[in-house]
Amino acid sequence: MMDATLTQAEIIFKGIAAAPGIAVGPVYLYSKVVPEVNARAIAPDDVPAEIERLRNANARAEKELRKIHAFAEQKLGSTSATIFEAQIMILGDTILMGTIERRIADELQNAEFIVHDEISKYKHLMLAATDEYMHERAHDVDDVMNRIIRNIQDQKLISRLEGTSVIVSETLTPADTVIFSRNQVLGYATDLGGVTSHAALLSRSLKIPAVVGLRNATKQVKTGDSVAIDGYAGVLILNPSATTRENLEVKAARFRAFEEKLADIAGLPAETIDRKRVELSSNLEFPEEIEFAKVQGTEGVGLFRTESQLIGRPDYPSEDEQALVYTQIANAAYPHPVIFRTFDVGGDKLAPDTHHEENPFLGWRGIRVLLDRPEIFMNQLRAIIRASARRNVRVMFPMVATLEEVQKAKAYVRQAKEELRARGVPFDARIKIGVMIEIPGAAIMAEQLAAEVHFLSIGTNDLVQYMMAVDRGNDSVAALYQPFNPAVVRILHHIIEAAHRRHVWVGVCGEMGGDPLATVLLVGLGIDELSVVPPVLPEIKKIIRSIKYKDARRVADKVLGMTRERDIREYLSSIIKNKVPEIPLEV
Ligand code: PEP
Ligand code: MG
Repeated sequence: MMDATLTQAEIIFKGIAAAPGIAVGPVYLYSKVVPEVNARAIAPDDVPAEIERLRNANARAEKELRKIHAFAEQKLGSTSATIFEAQIMILGDTILMGTIERRIADELQNAEFIVHDEISKYKHLMLAATDEYMHERAHDVDDVMNRIIRNIQDQKLISRLEGTSVIVSETLTPADTVIFSRNQVLGYATDLGGVTSHAALLSRSLKIPAVVGLRNATKQVKTGDSVAIDGYAGVLILNPSATTRENLEVKAARFRAFEEKLADIAGLPAETIDRKRVELSSNLEFPEEIEFAKVQGTEGVGLFRTESQLIGRPDYPSEDEQALVYTQIANAAYPHPVIFRTFDVGGDKLAPDTHHEENPFLGWRGIRVLLDRPEIFMNQLRAIIRASARRNVRVMFPMVATLEEVQKAKAYVRQAKEELRARGVPFDARIKIGVMIEIPGAAIMAEQLAAEVHFLSIGTNDLVQYMMAVDRGNDSVAALYQPFNPAVVRILHHIIEAAHRRHVWVGVCGEMGGDPLATVLLVGLGIDELSVVPPVLPEIKKIIRSIKYKDARRVADKVLGMTRERDIREYLSSIIKNKVPEIPLEV
């Protein structure tokens, strides 16, 4: 919830802490506003020069896109970078460009007007389609159009951001986040978005401080304004005073010192003083992230979000393409395990063939899509199983609501194995299967689900959203998005107990698993595994290594008796401050 308080010209915007860190510097206000385009008549003699302007602008736009593409490829991998290839193809479309040039000559109008008019036609056609994928592509077309127009007008481009700045924007796509990160970006602040938006997850991986959900910050700051971002507390401060800056510097130094100390524990196990072992693994989206996760001391990949492979492409990757990626990750993680989650499309996530739904979070997503599209599911299952030859691969199903869904999914796994066996492909015949517990109905049936599989992984991002009936990406109800709500704590307890009754291990792969405030509680509730974003791995390990399991159990018991979210947070915060005083925790 935003709250702007005026203190001696300092304006504080409260948002949601999305990626840790402190940033102080000038604002770069990033908006995707269409450059102003006015119609201007040209003389017949000016036509060749006007066409020349267009061609030059086009060439410059292509050069820029090629640079962005190369950078995205390096940061995100070639599959994810294809979004920019598609944009380059629009620039090279000879029919489209031929039409624009012809119209300049026939209608005697300036180049940017014709570019805008002609390309907008395509864009509107795409926006009129009901298909979500076409809408995404309409934005690409829009980006390309603006890029050409800005070049015709010789305007400065955002991709050429100079100097160090804090990017303030209404929203940022994952691609924006990555593109800006090649400049010396100090931090990100956005009006929209929740802590689990994929741009937020990405800024955490890129180690760039970020605050999201600031509501109308873009209306109140302008390029060049001085701001500070506190990515721990989730605030943006406009015109920070000298004292504020000093305080933030002290805070940043405290965190840095703490982080340096943490580097020492990368090679040590995540176990409590009284030797209760917790597996500490990473949540990854892109194969490139694994190297950093290893440096941070990961024990494997507790969640690989395979849907990242769908970014910027019109179809699902083939079995071979997927097998290549999965094998590469499994090899990089070996001997540690990797849990590949089958495509979790729909909801807030991109999908090549989702259709428009009134209520996508309650719609066709995750396992529902896969069971309705066996050919896609089977391709992916075969690819995952092919990566399992060294026995460190596990497979997990997202958004499971019923027992029948798991049974059907398991039947597909059996079929995939048979097909691979017939082909003579080596694989792990005993590949472990797990389900995500993200839906309250599944949480209640955790014991019955556990009886069907080898492990459960609690997706708190979605579980909290469905428990509290709060859209995880909607900042106007963010205050009710409460991982520490007593109802959530009770359901976590129920799930963990249920799994253990069936002798299957249970982990948390939602963001709550990486929240230092939750560690003692989760360990005390008996969690077997925590899968977290790589930057927080050492911090979580440090907490686990500083506590006794028997104390953590007492903490969990006490929390289970509490009835108010605020009390739970305050209590857990006091425990951490007491047990691990050097943890610079913000509540
Ligand atoms: C979750 O819901 O907690 C989860 C880990 O999955 P995602 O954030 O990808 O929906
Ligand atoms: Mg989820």
